[in-house]
Amino acid sequence: MTSRPIPSSTVAIAGGGLAGLAAGCALSSAGFRVTLFERRPFLGGRASSYQHPGTGEVVDNCQHVLLGCCTNLIDFYRRTGVENKIRWYDSLTFLEPGGRESVIKPSGLPAPLHAMPSFLGARCLGLADKLSIGRVMAALAPAAPAESGETFLAWLKRHGQTERAIERFWKTILVSALNEDLDQVSVPYAAQVIRESFLKSADAGRMGVPTVPLTDLYNAAGDLIRSCGGDVQFRAGMETFRNEASDVTLVVNGQEQKFDYLVLAVPFDVLAKVLPDSPAASTLAEKVGHLTTSPITGIHLWFDRIISDLDHAVLLDRTIQWMFHKSRLVESREAQGNGKGSYIEVVVSSSIFSCCPRSETFEVHRDQGSACDLLAPSRSGSIPATAGDSVVAGISGGRFCFHGMARDDGGRRAQRLSGGRVSCACRRH
Ligand SMILES: Cc1cc2nc3c(=O)[nH]c(=O)nc-3n(C[C@H](O)[C@H](O)[C@H](O)COP(=O)(O)OP(=O)(O)OC[C@H]3O[C@@H](n4cnc5c(N)ncnc54)[C@H](O)[C@@H]3O)c2cc1C
Repeated sequence: MTSRPIPSSTVAIAGGGLAGLAAGCALSSAGFRVTLFERRPFLGGRASSYQHPGTGEVVDNCQHVLLGCCTNLIDFYRRTGVENKIRWYDSLTFLEPGGRESVIKPSGLPAPLHAMPSFLGARCLGLADKLSIGRVMAALAPAAPAESGETFLAWLKRHGQTERAIERFWKTILVSALNEDLDQVSVPYAAQVIRESFLKSADAGRMGVPTVPLTDLYNAAGDLIRSCGGDVQFRAGMETFRNEASDVTLVVNGQEQKFDYLVLAVPFDVLAKVLPDSPAASTLAEKVGHLTTSPITGIHLWFDRIISDLDHAVLLDRTIQWMFHKSRLVESREAQGNGKGSYIEVVVSSSIFSCCPRSETFEVHRDQGSACDLLAPSRSGSIPATAGDSVVAGISGGRFCFHGMARDDGGRRAQRLSGGRVSCACRRH
């Protein structure tokens, strides 16, 4: 039997990231009285923004995108009134070193054939690559394979994929979507991404990009919780909790507070620390102990001129997989006029090298063509030389984050791209 909430039952939510906010909105709308505790002074968690100390620009922790198949997230945006802050794109541009473009987009054909005409015309893949990809699509279309312990890379090789198909198609799509390398991804997860984004429908595969900073996007969820009579408390870290017969007692900033229910929406490493010392909790703690993270790195670049007429692109044969032209994507910047130059964010998913010493991180980027020339092959012609101080860079990202200072002022050390040499100051956060 499903139990209905007793009107005005109280619920505490620990964590004001996407999970805590989604739970808070759903429970508030269902009549629960929600108190959300967030350790930091802002909402959004890993999907948040901050003001870059050097440029004053509000930058996202890292670029976030969604697909049309993310129906729960789209519904969440609709309920919090920010649905119109997402711009949708039907086509993806794949950019090769040298500037050649291939655009994959839907046609009038029904799914799963909707993208086939543009796929067949894509110049970044040869006929053998396309035929091998087509065979895998046909194999995945009826149903996703069951878990067998095989990695998706091994599965692809077993299904006769060419090296170029793996590098330019499967890796590009899946490492970005799952933030793991193909030899770490299991077959059902990879298959789900491909089925949802390429085979189900043209709508399911389109890409949505926020047109406002992430914190603005998620602040709306806090407003919804408050408008339903709930409370959102900042700088409120839950230390632990204990279950009692009819309620749960939380310790938040050293103070005990009682609620009818508790939702834990903190990162798994925090969860392990706040779980009480009980047999039930130790089973969960043991499971959580097996989880690990995989970092994502975002590199933010400000140019003194417009360097591309693309809003975003997939970059082939690079460590860096995506380019987002933020000055064309973010509404407030767009309104200021693009004549002021380009703000670009490039993203490296599964950026394990971020765990290397800082200098190596930059070496990797430089060896791969560096932040300077990776954008060079754009439609708008050659990219201006990046020598000099007109380009500043900052790096941010996932679990393990770098963040560069942009200017050498106020006693801060500088991070500059200069004549292909990268020097930087970084801090972890
Ligand atoms: C760099 C990067 C890029 C990403 N790109 C995408 C993308 O393009 N598309 C996509 O769908 N997903 C993307 N993701 C994943 C997405 O950001 C996460 O899945 C999502 O934000 C996780 O939300 P969460 O609420 O589970 O966790 P979190 O966002 O980690 O939220 C947990 C919250 O709990 C708070 N907290 C911690 N300890 C306590 C405590 N003791 N008491 C109270 N509060 C506490 C934290 O401050 C935080 O606000 C990306 C993630 C990263 C890191």
